[in-house]
Amino acid sequence: MKITKLTTYRLAPRWMFLKVDTDEGISGWGEPVIEGRARSVEAAVHELSEYLIGQDPARINDIWQTLYRGGFYRGGPILMSAISGIDQALWDIKGKALGVPVYQLLGGLVRDKIKAYSWVGGDRPAEVIEGIRKLQGIGFDTFKLNGCEEMGLIDSSRKIDATVAVVAQIREAFGNSIEFGLDFHGRVNAPMAKVLIKELEPYRPLFIEEPVLAEQAEYYPRLAAQTHIPIAAGERMYSRFEFKRVLEQGGLAILQPDLSHAGGITECYKIAAMAEAYDVTLAPHCPLGPIALAACLHVDFVSRNAVFQEQSMGIHYNQGAELLDYVVNKEDFSMEGAFFLPPSKPGLGVVINEELVIERSKQAPDWRNPVWRYEDGSVAEW
Ligand SMILES: [Mg+2]
Repeated sequence: MKITKLTTYRLAPRWMFLKVDTDEGISGWGEPVIEGRARSVEAAVHELSEYLIGQDPARINDIWQTLYRGGFYRGGPILMSAISGIDQALWDIKGKALGVPVYQLLGGLVRDKIKAYSWVGGDRPAEVIEGIRKLQGIGFDTFKLNGCEEMGLIDSSRKIDATVAVVAQIREAFGNSIEFGLDFHGRVNAPMAKVLIKELEPYRPLFIEEPVLAEQAEYYPRLAAQTHIPIAAGERMYSRFEFKRVLEQGGLAILQPDLSHAGGITECYKIAAMAEAYDVTLAPHCPLGPIALAACLHVDFVSRNAVFQEQSMGIHYNQGAELLDYVVNKEDFSMEGAFFLPPSKPGLGVVINEELVIERSKQAPDWRNPVWRYEDGSVAEW
C-alpha cells in the first residue's frame, strides 16, 4: 500500500481534518490542528507531505521518526500538531486495513469503559449551577470549569473572594454528588496561584489544571508541595521529550497530553506509559473534534493510568458546529451514563461525512482566542 494524497479541511468551530488516501482505496482521517493557528498547521502538513507520498502507511513508527527527526528543528505546537494528525490518520488506515479497532493493535482493552467529564460555564465561570444541573440530567457527574477570570500578577482580596464564591456555591448546591476540576488556564501567575489554591482547598476540587503556564513548569513541584489537591497539566507540552522533564521534576498528579498536539497516538501511548512509571495519571486533553476524541479513547482504553476523558460536547468554544456534526456513526459515541465505551469500528472508528466536510470547509471561520487586557491596558493571559 502507498500513500497517494493528503487533503486538509479547515472547519467550524476551530478544527482541521486531514484525509490521507492510499492506492488501495483505504483512507484514514486525522485531526492536525492548533486552536487559533489552523492555517499554520495546515501549511506544515502539506510541507511534510513530501515525506509521505509514495510511502507505505503501515510503517507508522518509521514515518513518525522521519517527520520528527527528518527536520533539524523539531517540536513545538505547529510541527507536533501536524505530526499528530498525520499519525492519527495512519493508525486509522492500519486499523481499517487489518479490520480491527486501533486499541486492538495497541494490545487490547485494559478497561470496559472510561469516565468522561464535561465543561461547564464559559470563559468566565458564571451560571455554572444551571449548567451542571442540565448536564447531570444527561448523566454527567464530573465537570471542569474555568477556575477564575483574568487574574492580575498580584490581585485583590475582592477578586479572590469572587473566585472562591463560585466554587463555594457549587459545593453548597451539589455537596459531593458531583466532582469538578478547576482550570486556571495559565491565567494565574505563581504568586496568586499559591493564594488561590490555598483559598480553594476547602472545597476539594478534583484537580487544579495549569495553575501556572507550562512555561513556568518549575513551579508545579513547588505548588504540589503546598497542597494536597492534585495538579494537572500537559495540554501545552509537545513530545515525550518535553513530558520527560515534568515527570522527572515531579509535582503533577494528572498528565494531560493532547492527542492532536503532543505527537498523536504513537507518541501519547509512550507518554502514558512514562506517566504510569512515575505513578502519574492520564487524562488526555480534548476540546477538539471527533477524530481527536477517538484517538484519545484508543489510548485511554489501553492505558491503566487513564482516569477520565475530556470531550467537547456543548463546550463554549463550539460555535458553528458540535462534536458529532460531521460524524455518520453518531451512535458509536453515545455514552453509558458518564462513560464512553470502546469504539467498535475498524481503525479510529469514526465515519466522516465527507460531503458535509467538503461543503462546510468552504466557509471555515478563522477562529482566534480572545486577547484580554488588564484595566491598565497591559495584556492578560486568556
Ligand atoms: Mg486547560
